[in-house]
Amino acid sequence: RQPLVEIQNLKKYYPIKKGILSKTVGHVKAVDGLNFLIYPGETISLVGESGCGKSTTGRAIVKLDPQTEGKVLFEGKDMATIQHKELRKIRTEMQIIFQDPYSSLNPRKRIGDLLAEPLIAHRLATKEEASKKVDQILEIVGLTKFHKSRYPHEFSGGQRQRVGIARALMLNPKLIVCDEPVSALDVSIQAQVLNLLKDLQKEFNLTYLFIAHGLGAVKYISDRIAVMYLGKIVEIGKTEEIFKNPKHPYTKVLLSAYPIPNPHLRNRERIVVEGDVPSPANPPKGCRFHTRCPMAQAICKEKEPLLNATDHSVACHFPLN
Ligand code: SF4
Ligand code: MG
Repeated sequence: RQPLVEIQNLKKYYPIKKGILSKTVGHVKAVDGLNFLIYPGETISLVGESGCGKSTTGRAIVKLDPQTEGKVLFEGKDMATIQHKELRKIRTEMQIIFQDPYSSLNPRKRIGDLLAEPLIAHRLATKEEASKKVDQILEIVGLTKFHKSRYPHEFSGGQRQRVGIARALMLNPKLIVCDEPVSALDVSIQAQVLNLLKDLQKEFNLTYLFIAHGLGAVKYISDRIAVMYLGKIVEIGKTEEIFKNPKHPYTKVLLSAYPIPNPHLRNRERIVVEGDVPSPANPPKGCRFHTRCPMAQAICKEKEPLLNATDHSVACHFPLN
């Protein structure tokens, strides 16, 4: 199967500047060498505590905030070297929705104009055509054309996320990066929005990169899960495998924090870790999790464990079970 997106050795470093001359004294290694594939029609989730680099990864993939190093191939094409015209097209095919859609919606514009904007900006439709498409898309996301004349503040959180989704759909994307799209919503509304995303995926053959800090929503929506810790993927596999048979100690930690009792984890297998996540400006040598891992051995402090290249892949010298 051909991947839709190939992420190769993706790195995103932010310079740390000090003093009146703004001298660079180091780097925050927000994302530090990611390799993974996104297949057409799937939902793959990036999961991990805040600051592990998942949003940064999503933003780099859609070129909202391009990477420092590494490659993103879309349908086999390197986004860094393709021609401008083609890049413009690909950029319409990759969209992103945010945790707080309000922050990305201009409060002084009516919803109808906000939605029509990208179509008109890319010169893909006349005003009338765009307006028709807005009516259609509003209907599809569970709103109505009567919402067109409203302003963002007149919507509830759930409705605003529907507007965010509608905006992403306007350009017929192939990939949508969903950056914690339900984290800010009431639990009852979360399920509605997740269901909407699932329905849309089927209807429009969409591929999702879903970003979340916890495993709750992720279990329901993803085909595969990649667990991130301090800028790296520590485990990746099918959702079922990750839940039934987690191999990385950190994955097990995340699973024990999962709010619904997990029948696959017996109590004695629960792992409790202490301490905070180290700074990504100065990540630990060897395995980045060794400062908190109860299973750590001498080698973990020296040698970085790499993902082993099977379907269910784990970066650990002493994988569980
Ligand atoms: Fe723990 Fe060592 Fe595995 Fe890292 S490599 S997760 S420190 S056992
Ligand atoms: Mg984030």
